[in-house]
Amino acid sequence: MVDRNMDAASDFAGSLEPGMVAVLGVPFDDNSSFLRGAALAPGRIREALSSGASNLCAENGLDLGAVPRWRDLGDLQLGTGPAALAQIESAVAALVKQDVRVLALGGDHAVSLPIVRAYARRFDRLNVLHLDAHPDLYDEYEGNRFSHACPFARIMEEGLVARLVQVGIRTMNPHQRAQAEKFGVDVIDMRRWHAGLELVLDGPLYLSLDMDVLDPAFAPGVSHHEPGGLSTREVLQLLQNVTVPLVGADLVEFNPIRDPAGVTAAVAAKLLKEIVACMLVDRLQAAD
Ligand code: MN
Ligand code: MN
Repeated sequence: MVDRNMDAASDFAGSLEPGMVAVLGVPFDDNSSFLRGAALAPGRIREALSSGASNLCAENGLDLGAVPRWRDLGDLQLGTGPAALAQIESAVAALVKQDVRVLALGGDHAVSLPIVRAYARRFDRLNVLHLDAHPDLYDEYEGNRFSHACPFARIMEEGLVARLVQVGIRTMNPHQRAQAEKFGVDVIDMRRWHAGLELVLDGPLYLSLDMDVLDPAFAPGVSHHEPGGLSTREVLQLLQNVTVPLVGADLVEFNPIRDPAGVTAAVAAKLLKEIVACMLVDRLQAAD
């Protein structure tokens, strides 16, 4: 069932049918500014998912162990630098072109730029829901315009999406505030967040989920500990309240080096199940 070590999108895209969901490992952390390690995440998330400590049922009742509409494609084999970003974009574009919904397992947040570029080729009214402690809107960070601190500046400059909504932000600084205003980003920072918050989205939706949106008490396995974040339940509720089609997602910034007890891996595996279920639910209803 699981094909690992695929090195080109064309190798696996042909084996999927339109309407399926693909989980794709993107083990790339060259653009991390503080700590490396996020490249180890996809393997650790799969271990947690198949550990036997839990089952494959999502909370909406969908049993991912019994639904043949999703596949784990294993990890991309990536080079370095700009070439790797181009590889990620072409791999995701090949899947999206076939009407496959992709959940990418990062890697650091820099991988979201090539993925959203691929989605923008197919969807011209894409909404992005970005859950993160950080706005990731730096024009450049330590001389790197492709740093994991910059992807949403590039996404907005390139006009790739109709709307960007950021939730969970708690590290806003004057430079990034100016960037957010310049680009028209809808920032719901943690001070404004409250339970039951309703997001105005007009889909199709792409979800970019940085694990550090969670409070470090819930997810210590991230490179940038930022207290005052969301609980696991609050992130699940945000996801479960999405009413527009979820056409793509990434789960990024899990750093296994800071997760010796496997707590964060379990949270990431849980989020994987819920995201896949959310991607499948409207398509299964349409097929009924
Ligand atoms: Mn981020
Ligand atoms: Mn972050």
